[in-house]
Amino acid sequence: TKHTFDAIVVGGGPAGTAAALTMARSGLKTILIERGNFVGAKNFFGGVMYTHAIADLLPDFWERTPPFERPLTEQGYWMLAPDSVVRMTHKSEHYKHEPADAYTVLRAQFDPWLAEQASKAGALVVTRTAVLRVLQDSKGKVIGVRTDRPDGDVYAPIVIIAEGVNNLLTQRLGLIKNDLPPRFVALAVKEYISLPAKDIQARFGLTGANEGAAIDIFGDATMGLPGTAFLYTDKAGISIGVGMLLDEFIQHKLRPYEVLARFKNHPVIQPYLEGGKPFEYGAHLIPETGYDRMPKLAADGVMVAGDAAGMVDALHREGTNLAMTAGRMAGLTAIKAHQAGDFSATFLNQYRQDLENSFVLKDMKQYRRMTDFLDTTPHFMGTYANFLNDVALRYFTAHGIPKRDMERQIVGMLQERRSFFGVAQDMVKLLRAMR
Ligand code: FAD
Repeated sequence: TKHTFDAIVVGGGPAGTAAALTMARSGLKTILIERGNFVGAKNFFGGVMYTHAIADLLPDFWERTPPFERPLTEQGYWMLAPDSVVRMTHKSEHYKHEPADAYTVLRAQFDPWLAEQASKAGALVVTRTAVLRVLQDSKGKVIGVRTDRPDGDVYAPIVIIAEGVNNLLTQRLGLIKNDLPPRFVALAVKEYISLPAKDIQARFGLTGANEGAAIDIFGDATMGLPGTAFLYTDKAGISIGVGMLLDEFIQHKLRPYEVLARFKNHPVIQPYLEGGKPFEYGAHLIPETGYDRMPKLAADGVMVAGDAAGMVDALHREGTNLAMTAGRMAGLTAIKAHQAGDFSATFLNQYRQDLENSFVLKDMKQYRRMTDFLDTTPHFMGTYANFLNDVALRYFTAHGIPKRDMERQIVGMLQERRSFFGVAQDMVKLLRAMR
């Protein structure tokens, strides 16, 4: 028997599930294929999710009781030196509305919930099934996929690839020429540590389960190398992790778990974890290839969405909302393609246009130089995080020295680390990377 659908989606992450839900809801016979034992089985992230992308997909998502952990009511940055921290966080009553703008989430719970919404909309969700390759006709047009099931070929005029960062199908189709270069991919290790809710609340100064914090940490957290660490509060646990460009791990011969262990033992961090029990541990890649190195997003009969296409804004730790928005837009384009009976690359390129007009590609375009900046300014995080901590120590301590002299000392402390021109150059480069 030939298994034929209107649309096939590969991968049950936020991108794929958003695409499947969108198409199924409009009446397309849609199959979502996920290789994990259940949707979400293989997925983990920091992680913060943004409700704007969920609301665009499911305007009544709140009534469908999504499995959120804590709403974010405090967010910000900590600049870590080896024995101290400068904190810059923002806490506001304005974050307190329901649904909130952002929530911490555990993917093993969230992804199955989202897949259930896709099933309810009529999508056939098939798990424990890997797509081995994409099937093409003699002209190269995509016509279906081959799975690892016996009798496992599935056909459809449109395939949406949402396979995540390890984009083997996208590569094999020739939509991107090369594998992810280590300079442009981050490796993140994360641990979920169980802790009683009351301890989490006391340590982060939260009044109850209706408050939560998401802190991104620079400097000594990644040994001063380009990368970030994070500390996010869940209901009954803390998500803690570090992420660095793969190249940095290779160059400095570092093992990811050692960097995380070192971070967890930092005198500022350790008290937050005291008495906690490790519950989950894992590592995952994050594409930081950026706007200029994205694969082709559409070809005859096929579109690519989410991490598979490198849709991540690392500076703002956004990925899931880009993935969900792209999946939804790919789904909408597929619906129009069915209406027009046109599945050509030219028609499907409307998907790219829609993304160019949205925050997804606008943001990626704006930050297109960010990874290059970190790659070519490797001292940035270490130098300035340490400097800020030294300034704070000097500023907040009385030495019986006139303040003018203290100011001179502070300028001297910066010059010891970086020349006047070096600082100016770093700042110009940073501004350029953010414009
Ligand atoms: P994925 O979520 O990776 O889903 C891909 C799916 O495809 C998987 O389920 C996989 O099993 C399946 N699959 C792959 N190949 C096949 C195949 N051949 N056949 C069948 N199935 C297949 N984003 C945020 O928004 N906020 C955060 O705080 C945040 N923090 C992060 C922290 C870490 C440590 C990491 C690693 C990432 C973080 N991200 C964050 C990024 C975010 O996780 C990703 O951008 C997002 O998950 C991308 O969604 P996706 O659907 O494209 O891919």
